[in-house]
Order: sequence, then C-alpha cells, then structure tokens
Amino acid sequence: MLVLDKLTTHYGSSQALFGVDLRLEAGQVATLLGRNGMGKTTTINSIMGIVKPSGGSITFDGQELVGQASFKTANLGLGLVPEGRQIFPNLTMMENLIATASNHLGHPDPWTVEKVFALFPELETRISSMGNLLSGGEQQMLAIGRALMTNPKLLILDEATEGLAPLVRQKIWHALSEIAAQGMSILVVDKNLKDLLRIADRHFVIQRGRVEWQGSSAELEANDEVRQKYLGF
Ligand code: ATP
Repeated sequence: MLVLDKLTTHYGSSQALFGVDLRLEAGQVATLLGRNGMGKTTTINSIMGIVKPSGGSITFDGQELVGQASFKTANLGLGLVPEGRQIFPNLTMMENLIATASNHLGHPDPWTVEKVFALFPELETRISSMGNLLSGGEQQMLAIGRALMTNPKLLILDEATEGLAPLVRQKIWHALSEIAAQGMSILVVDKNLKDLLRIADRHFVIQRGRVEWQGSSAELEANDEVRQKYLGF
C-alpha cells in the first residue's frame, strides 16, 4: 500500500533522512520507532508532502507522492493526526470535527459525526465547547476524529498519546484497535511501545535517518539488543 524507497530529505543543507526504506501492506498497523531526532516526524511529513523530499520515492497505492502538493496527498487517502494535535482554538469541537471533512461521494461506508461519537463518546458531550477549552485527551480524540472524517485509507499518527494520562491513552489505543479491526491501515509514531506491541503487526526502527531494523511485535519483544541499542530500554 505504502512504499518508501531510498527516501532522502534535507532541511536546507542539513540532511535528516538518508535513504528510508519501508513497506506497509493494506490492513497493517505499523510503528515508526526510534530515539529523539532520528527522523520519525520528518519521514511522516515527507509522506504527507509537508516537507519536500530531496530524493527517492514514496508510492501510495501505486501513485508517486514525491512532488505532489499535500492537499493532493490527503485526497489520495492519507489522513494525518499531527504532532501537537493542532486543534483550531477558536472553533467549537463540532466545527473542528467537520472543518476538513470530505464527503467522498460514492464511498461505501463514509465516516460521519455519529460514527466518531460512537468511537469517542466523550466528544458528544463537548459539541459546543471551544477547541482551546477541551482537555488534552479530548483534543487528541478530536484530532483523530477529524482525520477520520476525511475518510482516509491510511491513518498516520505522530505522537498521539504524548502527555496524556494512562487511562486516556488506553482509550485512544482501544479506539485505534477498533478501527484497525475494521480494516484501517495505521502508521504510528509513539514512545509508549508497550501498548503498541499489542496493537501493531510491524515495527520499523529509525536510526539517524535510516530504517535500521524491522520486525514483528514478537521479534521486537525478544530482541533485547535492538531495544537497548535503538530504543534505549
Ligand atoms: P522527535 O521524537 O524528537 O520528534 P524525530 O525522530 O521525529 O524526533 P525529526 O523531528 O524528524 O526526528 O528530526 C530529524 C532531524 O532533522 C533532527 O536532526 C532534527 O534536528 C532535524 N530537523 C527536524 N526538523 C527540522 C527543521 N524544521 N529544520 C531543520 N532541521 C530539522
């Protein structure tokens, strides 16, 4: 579904990605792991067209993404839940939820506000609350709901549970497991690996702008060397 081939990205003269290779199959839940500053967000932002890669290719369902404008990337079916949530502070919860929704005519089973509320019942009680008055957990649920309302084929989450209480984190993971069980493909960057081992099928460890290791949850759990060397525990 998503194939990154020798992807390189620079910020000015400084190189952040040195040839990232990654393959995600439809229906998979995969993680991008690695210590701070290794290139996880840059990889995601390169996929989304937010930063422009300097070399290599990214194909999504066979279509080249490198060189595409980011709105086109979104239209092809990639939904991003960005780092820091980026909720519009002066819009209500409901306005935030529908602000970027696309109606995808002909979609067999499109996301609706009702379906998002079924996934995150907390949101339904906050319909008229302004974005900046929502709790961190509510904002995160809203950011996920907002991405789902674009009817993505692949949902990408960057640090979705950062700064959230363990109980709220569990709610987020539970919701993601639910949509994964319905067939959604998901790529996630997160530091809470323990929860992800349960949910994800595939893990990619990034070290200095390259994928240095990849494997299943069982392989990662069994591999003390990889965890200590690249993940620091
Ligand atoms: P973190 O977990 O801290 O977000 P990360 O793995 O997502 O880390 P990136 O944010 O992708 O890492 O950063 C990769 C490299 O690119 C780092 O060396 C970082 O300093 C550099 N970098 C990231 N964003 C920029 C930018 N806007 N301008 C210049 N350099 C950047």
